Amino acid sequence: MGKPIYLDNSATTPIRNEALEAMIDTYTNVFGNSSSVHAFGQAARKTLEDAREEFADCIGAEAEEVIFTSGGTESDNLAIRGAAMAARNKGNHIITSGTEHHAVLHCCQALEREGFRVTYLPVDSGGIIDLDGLRDTLDEHAILISIMLANNETGTLQPVEEIGRIARERGIIVHSDVVQAAGKMPLDVKDLGVDLLSFSGHKFYGPKGVGALYIRKGTDVIPQLHGGRHERGLRPGTMNIPGIVGMTRALKLATEELEGTRKYLGELKERLAAGIMESIDRVHRNGGIEHSLPNILNMSFEDADGESLLLNLDTMGVAVSTGSACASGSTEPSHVLLAMGIQPRLAQCSLRFSLGRANRREEIDYLINILPEIVKRIRDVAYVSMRVDNQP
Ligand code: PLP
Repeated sequence: MGKPIYLDNSATTPIRNEALEAMIDTYTNVFGNSSSVHAFGQAARKTLEDAREEFADCIGAEAEEVIFTSGGTESDNLAIRGAAMAARNKGNHIITSGTEHHAVLHCCQALEREGFRVTYLPVDSGGIIDLDGLRDTLDEHAILISIMLANNETGTLQPVEEIGRIARERGIIVHSDVVQAAGKMPLDVKDLGVDLLSFSGHKFYGPKGVGALYIRKGTDVIPQLHGGRHERGLRPGTMNIPGIVGMTRALKLATEELEGTRKYLGELKERLAAGIMESIDRVHRNGGIEHSLPNILNMSFEDADGESLLLNLDTMGVAVSTGSACASGSTEPSHVLLAMGIQPRLAQCSLRFSLGRANRREEIDYLINILPEIVKRIRDVAYVSMRVDNQP
């Protein structure tokens, strides 16, 4: 077996050298606390504010509209909980979709226990919400809509620009989790027209444990942590400046390379999808082809359990996932696939292939080459055990 093949870039990406080098430089030379008054503190503050400006620039925002967090989960929680609490005097109705990441879903469920009402919008078979259905739910109590731009299991894109337009007419705040979209598609806050966006550094070749939240000027958010006055009092805690610098470097490079990356990954993904469809029968592609990220491919293999597929591929040196990394280890079928109307048994026979910039065509061809035999073996075992189960 050659070098292991990593096709789980939606779970996390390897940090790119430029980001790592920028972090080492910051750790080495700018170790001060950005809240300190002395020269070391001033140097740290300048590095932090330069990074903030650069990050904001990548998404068409103003520097003061970006605050740094510990990652996507914290950004989602701060956005949803913070905006919901701030608007509580106006209403208690939050609208989201059934296919959101657990960082959004579980936060909404916690808010339900605190007296908020949450509508979980259904999606069609491609994983997309219905805009008329959204309009119908917007009663006078609606205060917040949270719909992700790109789904982490299927890559499906939601019509976030239209959602922003619908919400603006009614004065409702919109949050979008762009954790998977960042670095894979153009992101400009003016085009998207939403109020809050969550980012996570480790999904676009930056470091883990650092993220950002875009907060449109004038959007009220109540802090969810209590402490110092960092990040305009919205997110207290000593700033992780090396992490922020590394994440910002990674986002800047991803933004500059976007067109080429999208084309490259899109071609690899279609090569993989076509190769699988041609060599294996009874496979289904989950999520649409058109409204989708260029790097995520989700497929179901009838009568071949996803967990067995994953383990067999792992022994052959190929790392994939059965869905979201946060849900792995659970034997439940994916809530995303179920929401798309896929039967539980078939949903459990699914794999997510998420491609990254380091992947090569030969790796895709290797996978296409070994997968049919693995699927056949698992199906044969499934048929034998089905026959045994059915014996009188
Ligand atoms: N939102 C989405 C769509 C994700 O895919 C993830 C990570 O899997 C998160 C949020 C959580 O981000 P983090 O790992 O930075 O907390």
